[in-house]
Amino acid sequence: MKTADYIEQTEQYVLHTYNRFPVVLESGEGVWLTDVEGKKYLDFGAGIAVFALGYGNRAYEDALKEQLGKIIHTSNLYYNVPLSEAARKLAQASGMDKVFFTNSGTEAIEGAIKAARKYAYLKDGSTGHEIIAMNRSFHGRSMGALSVTGNPHYQEAFRPLVGGIRFADFNDLESVKAQINEKTCAILLEPVQGEGGIYPAEPEFLQGLRRICDEKDILLIFDEIQCGMGRCGSWFAWQQYGVQPDIMTCAKALGCGIPVGAFVLNEKTAKASLAPGDHGTTYGGNPLACAAVSKVFDLFEELDVIGHVREVAPYLEQKLDELVAKYDFLSERRGKGLMQGLVVTGRPVGEIVSRALENGLIVMSAGSDVLRLVPPLVIERADIDEMVRRLEKSF
Ligand SMILES: *Cc1c(COP(=O)(O)O)cnc(C)c1O
Repeated sequence: MKTADYIEQTEQYVLHTYNRFPVVLESGEGVWLTDVEGKKYLDFGAGIAVFALGYGNRAYEDALKEQLGKIIHTSNLYYNVPLSEAARKLAQASGMDKVFFTNSGTEAIEGAIKAARKYAYLKDGSTGHEIIAMNRSFHGRSMGALSVTGNPHYQEAFRPLVGGIRFADFNDLESVKAQINEKTCAILLEPVQGEGGIYPAEPEFLQGLRRICDEKDILLIFDEIQCGMGRCGSWFAWQQYGVQPDIMTCAKALGCGIPVGAFVLNEKTAKASLAPGDHGTTYGGNPLACAAVSKVFDLFEELDVIGHVREVAPYLEQKLDELVAKYDFLSERRGKGLMQGLVVTGRPVGEIVSRALENGLIVMSAGSDVLRLVPPLVIERADIDEMVRRLEKSF
């Protein structure tokens, strides 16, 4: 079969919820992908900020194979070895205390919402507690996560959503304060907004939120699903702000391709929120997923992935700034580390993304007008140069 046949078969049998680009990807090596025709693509999308280690990392693959040979699944009624290892490594990297593994990012958000509501419930015995989320945010597609996603376009057809959610403007402390009342139990945000268009938080904003949360015993929840796991130059983006959340969600690069997410609680929240019977999952934290997470943490240490991000990110920023200076239709660069966006004005960003694909470069869009670059974290300067060549050709 050829590209057209696979596309036809997919469209016949897979529910059409994505307008996919007309390529059938088959394999990967390092930062390059190959489609079924043998065409190669330099990957600055990493499967939506997932494949941090690059493709074909032998040590990662061997760890998965080894686990496959032992046991893939046990259920959460029993202990398993990879779960205990992965949870310890995630807790240590975050400096937080208790981990609950999920199968996806959206489920991590669901868990964080439930933990926050339960925390508030245990405090005053009442229900109806509210959560403040941000406009332009993205937290996932399940009903709870959709309800805290500040994008009416995604929500409209699916109302009624989960109640008790209020929205404020990102980086606008006063607008958050205006939404707070005695029912507020949590404030939820991405330290660097991803899908909304790559907007890093201002330090004063996060610091101000922490202050408010401390004063009123409101939980601060950071969604690190896209900006976490080294992408911004620290394990988690919030670590650069010196502002700690009470609950953090992660997914995407956490398993580097094996579907896994997590929500992580500090001691205060863990002690007084979800208890046996409150939350569960059949697959979440299964041995295969946790073997991936565990190996990802080991490899990040061994390869000094975060040190590498800190080293190459300024070069990427410099090259992108040069493009902004050179092209009228690029108005701004925004981002942190290897999570970067170019604001495109006066022409559709989708057109550039499509042309780039023709030129063997994978980039994505974010928001309505942002060209998003979230490459594997192992890219080198030469890859950045090659990306710039292919991108300029696509302009
Ligand atoms: C991708 C993403 C999610 C949702 O994760 P899924 O694994 O797609 O459910 C939630 N929050 C942020 C910030 C994301 O980037």
